[in-house]
Amino acid sequence: METGSKIEELVEISRYYGSDPDYVIAGGGNTSYKDDRYIWVKASGTELGTIGKDGFVQLDRSRLRMIGEKQYSSDVQRRESQVKEDLLAARVDPEKGLRPSVETSLHDLIEYPFVVHTHPTLVNALMCSQQAAEKTPQLFGEDALFIEPAAGYSLFVKVKERLPAYKDKYGKDPQLIFLQNHGIFVSAHTTKEIRELYEMVSGKLRAIIRPEEIKELPVTREAETLRHELSRLAGDKFVALRHNTLHRHFYGDAEAFRAISIPFTPDIMVYCGAEYIWSGRRSLPEIMEEVREGFEKYRKKYRRDPGIILVKDLGLYGLGENEKTAVTALDVYEDFMKVSKYSEVFGGPHPLSQETIDFILGWEVEHYRRERYGKDDR
Ligand SMILES: [Zn+2]
Repeated sequence: METGSKIEELVEISRYYGSDPDYVIAGGGNTSYKDDRYIWVKASGTELGTIGKDGFVQLDRSRLRMIGEKQYSSDVQRRESQVKEDLLAARVDPEKGLRPSVETSLHDLIEYPFVVHTHPTLVNALMCSQQAAEKTPQLFGEDALFIEPAAGYSLFVKVKERLPAYKDKYGKDPQLIFLQNHGIFVSAHTTKEIRELYEMVSGKLRAIIRPEEIKELPVTREAETLRHELSRLAGDKFVALRHNTLHRHFYGDAEAFRAISIPFTPDIMVYCGAEYIWSGRRSLPEIMEEVREGFEKYRKKYRRDPGIILVKDLGLYGLGENEKTAVTALDVYEDFMKVSKYSEVFGGPHPLSQETIDFILGWEVEHYRRERYGKDDR
């Protein structure tokens, strides 16, 4: 059956990018296939790297189109939950209990059958840099659509508003949509073309950024002692520890740490929190004192424990309820470090605005997903 083989292709390309940490970390990214009537989009809480046919939600496109025409509440929280309800109502098989990704409407908007949305490290080095807006058309052509930071429904609205003028000018839908402080949407008639487009984008960026190899550094006994202390401090949470040359690039002094102190993307906030603790002290008691103070401040402000602690000469610590979440915090934060470092060739990092950070902190959809699944799909 025609549709069946297309879904198999969708599974294959989802796994291909989902299992490559340069493109997707943890539950990040989402993919879809559509025909005239239906769209199959990754379900919330599934991971692209291991996804199967059952990991996709089938939705009725005529019902999705209504979301674009409807007037929603001006209250952000209410609007997001209203949109969520309408997304759920567009499912063909609601009894399967799958929830469509929050970016489903955006997938539906683009007329190409295949859409692969990821948050690649190299792309985000440009998207989270000072020169994102000017360099994107220079590197990828005027027909690469660039969208300023937005999340959830407002991201959908922003893209929707730009499409008519785009179609007038180029006679087609954009195949590359670059999202500032977020990632990229690549769309095409075939998965082969999707791969070619990704190759082109990565190739151009790699030639400019020239990523250096990261080398492991020794984990000292002192570093291990601190790991136990941190676990005790956080009420027996799991603490993952790594030490490499990437950490060294940022832990030397407060100025170096500043480049990774404000999140670049919503993903970082979901997995690592909105602030991170750094200590440049020498002796273990001094480090502990500084970290304890950092913990107190963080708990007061966010009513939860911090997720990331970076300590000069010792390494990077990730906290989580279990080993998986602690390791994921490290993976996501290391990606953040790479993005920050690589963005130096594009004028340095461009973090999220305080307004966007506050919006995400109070965003019900985000909160629900984190509490429920402990992973993200944006
Ligand atoms: Zn995303």
